[in-house]
Amino acid sequence: MDAFAPIAPDWTQPAVHAFDFRCPQCGASSRQAEKVWLNRRAPVYTADYTRKWQEFYHCSCGCVWWAWSSDRPPEPEAAEFVNEATLPDVSPDSPNTEQGDENGDES
Ligand SMILES: [Zn+2]
Repeated sequence: MDAFAPIAPDWTQPAVHAFDFRCPQCGASSRQAEKVWLNRRAPVYTADYTRKWQEFYHCSCGCVWWAWSSDRPPEPEAAEFVNEATLPDVSPDSPNTEQGDENGDES
């Protein structure tokens, strides 16, 4: 897997915007994502002339989400702490069937 691939991987298509930079479905942090893709080829310039880009994460719970790079927590340890405090108790080997597949394919 190449996080800097020039073309968006298929799995990024159903991504939902996560405003607090963690999985909107289970609350896992970006560091626990199974896949990541950074849209570095299409950066956006903010009002204060800093660049930001979309970061896509494929969570282990099956949720695909994205957030702006500028919203990433500056301290990884802090993100891990938040995750540990909020992550629901889910068995890792229980299949998650609520991935929103019904509305993910509109082509
Ligand atoms: Zn998740």
